[in-house]
Order: sequence, then C-alpha cells, then structure tokens
Amino acid sequence: MPGKDRLAQYRSKRDPATTPEPRGHRRARRGDPVFVVQRHDASTLHFDFRLEIDGVLVSWSVPKGPSLDPRDRRLAIRTEDHPLDYADFEGTIPPGEYGGGTVIVWDTGTFDVLTEEPAGRALADGHLKVVLHGDKLTGRFSLIRKRSGDHEEWLVIKKDDEGADRRRKPAKTQPESVLSGRTNRELG
Ligand code: MN
Repeated sequence: MPGKDRLAQYRSKRDPATTPEPRGHRRARRGDPVFVVQRHDASTLHFDFRLEIDGVLVSWSVPKGPSLDPRDRRLAIRTEDHPLDYADFEGTIPPGEYGGGTVIVWDTGTFDVLTEEPAGRALADGHLKVVLHGDKLTGRFSLIRKRSGDHEEWLVIKKDDEGADRRRKPAKTQPESVLSGRTNRELG
C-alpha cells in the first residue's frame, strides 16, 4: 500500500527502552535480497523465517522450522514485517517483553525469486517460489498461503532438487547460529 508504514506494527509491539532489538527503518539496499531464519526460544520455541521484499523483512513464524524433506509441509504463520537490520540480530529479549527470550541467526544468505511477477506481487497472491542460498538451507522452496485474514497460514515446502535431503534434520540436529556458533542456551 503506497505511503503505508510497513514497520508501524513492528514498532507498536516494542519499547526501544526495554528491548535490544533494532529500532529499524525501512530503507533501500543494493544487491541480492537476503533471507534469514532466526531460532527464537520464547514462550514456545519457533523459527522466524524472513525474506527481504520491498525494503522490509516479510516474516513468518514456523513452529517446527523449515525442512529439507520435500515430503514435509511446514506450517508458517505470517507475522509483522521486520526491519532489514533485524537480519543479523542475535540477543536476549527481556522476559515479559513481546517475544521475550533468546534469538540467534540459525541460517542466512541471499535468495532469488522464481516467479514471473515481482516478489511483492507473488506475496500478495499467496504463492512465492524462491531459491535460498544459505548454509543449512539451499535450493528451491515454495511458500503457499492456505488461509487469509489476521493470522495468515502458509506452508513452506522444499522442492525436490539437489538441496533436498530426506534424512538430515537441521532444525533438530544443527541448533547453533551460523553467525556466532552459539546456541540459544549459550545466549540465555
Ligand atoms: Mn519469533
């Protein structure tokens, strides 16, 4: 929506005096768009999957984390857009604050969009196709919206390519940060 501040919801949920999370500004950035998956040990452990689209990190909460197995359909709940500088945020959000708990960068890298239309349009249409160039996650993934409304439900599905792996379960066996090597526990 033209003129709409896409980070207003992000800011309204956080008090910059009490959380170490980036205040964040919408801004243009050069180069390939980035993705990040943050492992967030909050009231419930989940993975936050974020794609840089139109100057913000479009975000989903994935309870079980992304899978490399094309047979898995991982539920992803759309959450508020995050600022680009959230992509390398690791730290502890104080207890009692929104999202209180520890955050690490579980995987990150750049991505390409495979759909004909721009990513913002594909997002609005509820069907994104991307290629991730991460450390733990590589290759093609689809994001498909199953339910609209205030709590959009999507599915994240690995496509069957050279990045697929039916045995390796990185969300379970590789819990550490790709930036610092630390686990959530080591932060907390
Ligand atoms: Mn989260």
